[in-house]
Amino acid sequence: GAQPGGLYSPGDALVLLQVDTLERRVLNSSSAWLVEFYASWCGHCVHFAPTWRALAADIQEWSPAVNLGVVNCADIANQKACKKFGITGFPTLKFFKAFSKSPEDGTKIFHPGDSIQNLRQSIITNLEMHKETWPPACPPLEPASVEEIRGFFQTNNVMYLALIFEANDSFMGREVTLDMLQYENVAVRRVLSSEEELVKKYGVTAFPSGFLLINNGTFSRIPVKMAARSFYTYFLRRLPGVTRGPYAPTSAPDTPIKSTLTPRRPADRSKVYMADLESALHYALRVEVARFSVLTGERVRALKDFVTVLAKYFPGRPFVQNFLRSVDRWLRNMRESRIPYSALERVLTNRKEGQAPEVLSNNMTWVGCQGSKPHFRGYPCSLWTLFHLLTVQATRYRRLGTGPLEVLGAMRGYVWSFFGCRECAQHFEGMAAESMDKVRSVDKAVLWLWSRHNRVNARLAGTETEDPEFPKLQWPPPDLCPLCHGLVNRRHVWDEAAVLRFLKAHFSPANIILDYTE
Ligand code: FAD
Repeated sequence: GAQPGGLYSPGDALVLLQVDTLERRVLNSSSAWLVEFYASWCGHCVHFAPTWRALAADIQEWSPAVNLGVVNCADIANQKACKKFGITGFPTLKFFKAFSKSPEDGTKIFHPGDSIQNLRQSIITNLEMHKETWPPACPPLEPASVEEIRGFFQTNNVMYLALIFEANDSFMGREVTLDMLQYENVAVRRVLSSEEELVKKYGVTAFPSGFLLINNGTFSRIPVKMAARSFYTYFLRRLPGVTRGPYAPTSAPDTPIKSTLTPRRPADRSKVYMADLESALHYALRVEVARFSVLTGERVRALKDFVTVLAKYFPGRPFVQNFLRSVDRWLRNMRESRIPYSALERVLTNRKEGQAPEVLSNNMTWVGCQGSKPHFRGYPCSLWTLFHLLTVQATRYRRLGTGPLEVLGAMRGYVWSFFGCRECAQHFEGMAAESMDKVRSVDKAVLWLWSRHNRVNARLAGTETEDPEFPKLQWPPPDLCPLCHGLVNRRHVWDEAAVLRFLKAHFSPANIILDYTE
């Protein structure tokens, strides 16, 4: 079924999994699964999506030995399921052996770079880890022995046996084996170059190279232009008598779920919207923090600092402010070094009589942060907005503050401990480690965040995470703040005093619009 707002569509060779299908399909399955858990708002997931899609197309015919799936953890409906599968950052790839029993049985697959070949080889290595629960549809992948080849046609009812002679570290033989699993009347085995008896018997001189044995006792070298996977696969699939077997080429469609297309909400770029800020709070506290069943050590500290600056400086509606203060009090009274999220959740959902039903709405509503497509903007945009606002508010309430690094430190801790886009967190931590502790005043803190955000904008401009309708600009652009821009020796310079004045006005309570808050 379609995943509303997701990065993938039913046209991709992937199984689109949802809360109701994830466990049902992936656990106790006779197939192995490799699942990408992603968040549609995460730039690195957007960046990775073409690779994942191409990989899925490339190994589509390895199904049903192994299936590829995706889950959008940014979809609130899937949030609990992603938590249950232990997902704390995006994108996360998890391999589930056939007949896996529980969400914990998944193994994280590291994806260095974005190479399809590495991922494909990693799938093979993981398939080989199956012991007693070998996926029934998966052909043997281990190298063939002399004895196996000698008796092959007596024990296997096929017309052809293709032998791929190759070095121990080559994956081609196994790839061709898997490429052919949906085809009948042909089997493929790899033979190691160290298997001297077979190498001699067939007169093999180059590795890799392929030989075709026929059940009438004849054999010949497979004539390919290049000794590469696709050439062998192509040759074998076109042999007379070889036909596609009973496996359906793609998996059965899941029950489609209603796609809710959110209408575009007109927004003024010179304003800040409370709906974005409250959605950020909701997503941060109820989704991102919730991914950790138990908070310990650094995360407890990061959460406390975050909630403290919210309680002090968030210019929210009165009931939201009361709520933040009560969460802050509760956290401060927690002396334990470990906090189960369930305990925090009770505090977050605690309603007092006469209070609005649920302080943080269960829906996220993006207004100033609404993208032209659901996977653009949204949460990360609102998180930036929230922290800019907090740095500015801290300049207005200096007497409440504990120093110039109070808000920046809280942001650094939050991003490092909880922000689901882990590569964003790494980048941000890099910038923080480099210069954050040189910030000497609350005004400089506002400017530090502004200039680092502009660095991120510069880095991301023109990449696929950029919403074409909201290009990444050095901000504020001249139409928003003409006085911020100047020229010295015909080179652009920022007037930092003007920028500071602008930021203080832009991120002030008077500039926050309450439209679309419930
Ligand atoms: P955003 O950049 O999210 O900006 C939101 C709003 O803030 C803008 O609409 C504008 O009103 C205002 N604004 C813009 N620039 C400034 C500024 N300099 N000062 C003050 N206000 C400003 N994505 C990646 O792909 N790679 C990364 O490494 C990465 N790192 C990130 C690190 C952090 C800490 C965060 C919060 C996000 C990160 N992101 C990263 C996401 C990315 O920065 C954007 O948030 C996302 O692409 C959405 O972009 P956007 O167009 O909505 O504008």
